[in-house]
Amino acid sequence: MYEFVKNRLEKELLSIEDEGRLKSERIIISPQSSTININSDKNILNFCANNYLGLANDSRLLNAAKKYTDSHGLGLASVRFICGTQDIHIELEKKIASFLGTEDAILYAAAFDANGGFFEPLFGSEDIIISDELNHASIIDGVRLCKAQRLRYKHNDMDDLEHQLKKTINCRSKIIVTDGVFSMDGTVAQLDIICTLAEKYGAMVMSDECHATGVIGETGRGTHEAKGVMGRVDILTGTFGKALGGASGGFTCGPRAVIEILRQKSRPYLFSNSLAPGLVGASIKSISILEKDITLLKNLAKNTKYFRLKMSKSGFKIKKGYHPIVPIMLYDDHLAKLMSEKLLNEGVYVVGFSFPVVPKEKARIRVQISANHTTKQLDAVIQSFIKIGKELEIIS
Ligand SMILES: *Cc1c(COP(=O)(O)O)cnc(C)c1O
Repeated sequence: MYEFVKNRLEKELLSIEDEGRLKSERIIISPQSSTININSDKNILNFCANNYLGLANDSRLLNAAKKYTDSHGLGLASVRFICGTQDIHIELEKKIASFLGTEDAILYAAAFDANGGFFEPLFGSEDIIISDELNHASIIDGVRLCKAQRLRYKHNDMDDLEHQLKKTINCRSKIIVTDGVFSMDGTVAQLDIICTLAEKYGAMVMSDECHATGVIGETGRGTHEAKGVMGRVDILTGTFGKALGGASGGFTCGPRAVIEILRQKSRPYLFSNSLAPGLVGASIKSISILEKDITLLKNLAKNTKYFRLKMSKSGFKIKKGYHPIVPIMLYDDHLAKLMSEKLLNEGVYVVGFSFPVVPKEKARIRVQISANHTTKQLDAVIQSFIKIGKELEIIS
């Protein structure tokens, strides 16, 4: 009797649209890259993907995906513990664990599942999870699924984190959880201070490295490398769907016993298909490339620095930092939407974010830089920003 529900759903959709919150999806008819084709053959400059190293259509990764598909098939039609574990799954787990500097790793279909399936097997009502208030939705959902007590600290506020830690005297175990890099601001978590506080108060530390692996740190290891605390962060979760090739797949890296408990009890691992061989091959290749050569990583840093500097000099307000997530602050919801539309007319694809995705009066355009953007493309985008910025009287 869908009829009973239809009316309510249609009303809800209308109200989402009325509030200007309806998400519409642009149809891309090319691979993900620094230029893409949307709906027509027109080449659009793409500055809104998580394709940080430009590997999403890299021929080395595509060939690895094909090779692993040829040798190991399309997929396993099974979960890991029944008949879904291949030698290549173990190979990738060893590879990512060694890359990030942990004892062991476990694969998931996505980082969303890695976070969603992390807490419930390991923490119960005697334990406490202390979470940054702006953590990713998948961490929030994962925490919701477990019975542990919860404390939240103000975003990136280390005094408040310590204040919360002081409340955790009487518990069996405790863990501090943070995004390594926060996706709306490009803020890098203060893992150095977090680790020091964790050691003082006897807490474990977990960092979600989705926007960090292959992006920050001297050799692209991520936030723990960038903050000089490799070996002191207990748990790292991350994705193969961003810098490491942009396909999909997630992982949790950590001590052997933690990973083994997850293999025994983590529900998104136990009850979901194992990672497709093509994805495994591409992911292994992406890590191999980074291990041998950090040219892409250096290009990414160079492009980011260039873009941040030129945009600031042109008068745009940018959240300070060094991450390739570059928030161009416009503050006004309407302006963020209008500006992104006008930029698309100029052939530049960027996305405006407004409330409730970001706080009220903090609307922005989020630009994301990639290693494969050329200087010519960066200049073209900066020129378009300047043109529209003047037109809309954002800069003079
Ligand atoms: C993208 C992202 C995820 C989800 O990653 P998927 O592999 O796409 O599921 C989780 N956490 C953070 C912080 C992310 O940015």
